[in-house]
Amino acid sequence: MSDHDAQLLRTHLKQLRLPTMLAEFEKLAREAATSQQTYEQYLLRLSDLEVAARASNALVARIKAAAFPVHKDFDTFDFTAVPSLNKPKILELARGEWLDQHYNVCLLGSVGTGKTHVATALGLAACRQGRKVRFFTAGNLVTRLEEAQKVYQLDRFLAQLDKTDLLICDELGYLSFSRGGAELLFQVFAERYERASLLITTNLAFSDWGQVFQGERMTAALLDRLTHRCHIFELSGESYRFRESMKTKKGKKTE
Ligand code: ADP
Ligand code: MG
Repeated sequence: MSDHDAQLLRTHLKQLRLPTMLAEFEKLAREAATSQQTYEQYLLRLSDLEVAARASNALVARIKAAAFPVHKDFDTFDFTAVPSLNKPKILELARGEWLDQHYNVCLLGSVGTGKTHVATALGLAACRQGRKVRFFTAGNLVTRLEEAQKVYQLDRFLAQLDKTDLLICDELGYLSFSRGGAELLFQVFAERYERASLLITTNLAFSDWGQVFQGERMTAALLDRLTHRCHIFELSGESYRFRESMKTKKGKKTE
């Protein structure tokens, strides 16, 4: 290929937004020549790279948009430390069918039992399946809703949330909200009912949700919708961090 043609090809690939093909076409062409590939085989290998790079970039973008606070996945989660958690069931959820069925997930348990870790791992699994995920702490979500309302952008923010396949609301119950804040959160939860999935982690028993959603009626209405089609898990036991630090301390003492 003449330099002129190669330059023209580069311009075309740029214009067509095929950056991986642009970066790889020469190297692959040399390989194709030495291994006597057909034109079709060469084109297939080249386009394969572009498709793979796009899929990988899209995944990175989905994970970024999800705004997970930490990147905790199942590979670092020790299920033996939480025997109360049904591992096969959780791994089944990681396959994502519950999201197609618009089911919810509730992870209940005291602090440090791995709720955020499991919620994030389920969120990452959903991202890998090409789904849109958003992670918020309950406190953060209420603040965002209140701020959006103040500047008349609530509908816009709600529409953004509506586009997600999975909304993760972490740490419900750590903070209580103003009446207005609780109502906004209720609105978000209620609107998703049977339309899109919600994953909630909380340190509160359902019987104590009245503390967060002030008012018996709102709490009852919310729990009714939330738990209707919901996988509920209890993570019981002591804080994982606490246990790990005790292990290290004990280890040090016997040294
Ligand atoms: P919670 O959200 O229930 O308060 P986290 O998920 O934040 O707890 O867990 C606290 C810390 O302990 C995190 O760093 C988390 O990765 C780790 N952790 C908790 N449970 C486990 C577990 N079973 N296996 C591995 N790490 C765990
Ligand atoms: Mg947490």
